Amino acid sequence: MRDFKAELDKRREQGLYRWRRQVESPQQPEMMVEGRPVLSFCSNDYLGLANHPATIKTLRESLGTAGLGGAASHLICGHHAAHHKLEEALAAFSQRESALFFSTGYMANMGVISALAGRGDTIFSDRLNHASIIDGCKLSRATIRQYAHADVADLERQLAETEGHKLVVTDGVFSMDGDLAPLPELAAVCRAHDALLIVDDAHGFGCLGPEGRGTVAHFGLDEADVPLVIGTLGKAFGTSGAFVAGSSLLTDYLVQKARTYIYTTAMPPAVAYASCTSVALLEQANDRRVHLKHLIDRFRSEASRLGFTLMPSATPIQPILVGDAWSALALSKALEARGIWVTAIRPPTVPEGESRLRVTFSASHTEAHLDRLLNALAACRQLSPESAA
Ligand code: PMP
Repeated sequence: MRDFKAELDKRREQGLYRWRRQVESPQQPEMMVEGRPVLSFCSNDYLGLANHPATIKTLRESLGTAGLGGAASHLICGHHAAHHKLEEALAAFSQRESALFFSTGYMANMGVISALAGRGDTIFSDRLNHASIIDGCKLSRATIRQYAHADVADLERQLAETEGHKLVVTDGVFSMDGDLAPLPELAAVCRAHDALLIVDDAHGFGCLGPEGRGTVAHFGLDEADVPLVIGTLGKAFGTSGAFVAGSSLLTDYLVQKARTYIYTTAMPPAVAYASCTSVALLEQANDRRVHLKHLIDRFRSEASRLGFTLMPSATPIQPILVGDAWSALALSKALEARGIWVTAIRPPTVPEGESRLRVTFSASHTEAHLDRLLNALAACRQLSPESAA
């Protein structure tokens, strides 16, 4: 049998061991974690909707009318009017003909990618795509070709030398870096090479584009450029679940073929009703998006002035690049000692030598919260400049 303990010990020695913290309050900037108050800068609740009273009210009321359990898969007897209503709301929100509600973004990527490509086909995937995209590609049994991060010329070269059905898949906003995929250029090469483009906009919806309609809308593109978009509801929407949106033809195909949609119990209908409320809130959240942008801009200018290495990101994902795993852990611990929670992100989530603190902002952070983060960073910088560089 494999020596599992030795593997864990090795992880510990390399500074790569991971552990979980128990949160004892709702998700919001000021949280209770294992008996201590902390100020969090590492959640994906970008608009501060995870604990919104309107969504919670809908959830409570819907539990009374729709009950709790999903009870069966969508194709047996689990497809509730609540799910359908949410799918229509998400289609309208993402300006597509149709949408399907999945249980998680992970499942959406696994199901969609493996349904749309198979043996003999080729999937082209950005080198920094999310784990769920990578796993969806593997599950499909198609040939997988990675292209260099956001490198359209590399993609085009590889597309040109490939025959048959081609699928290109990319994050809209890269989850660990915060930068955007070059969607206009990707859409153009996909069109030229008859490849189907899928964008996972888990981190773009709610944050980018008019009314938060995501990275595709941010670039002024539409369904003709990006036939399928995937979004998760667990981040800016502040609820749970995920969706894929596109033409009725494609979503109908996915109802027939996407195994993670077909063979799983439907989400609790009340969560779907709550998500409908959240979609409406998110569309109307321009003031939150303006505040978020202000926090991001202020953080970028002041953290750079402190000498931290930031990445080229204009989104709420603002990683501080540190380098080795131990230094990233040390900076995270030093912040924690000052009551600030920012998790260190280490390999294999990011490449070797690129460990970082993934600082994320929420519209529910105040100026005073940002002051506390910057003061703590300044203090850590003074303590151990080399561990924070
Ligand atoms: N895609 C991306 C780009 C993500 O960052 C994540 C979550 N971290 C997912 C998909 C998975 O979404 P979910 O959390 O809903 O499973």
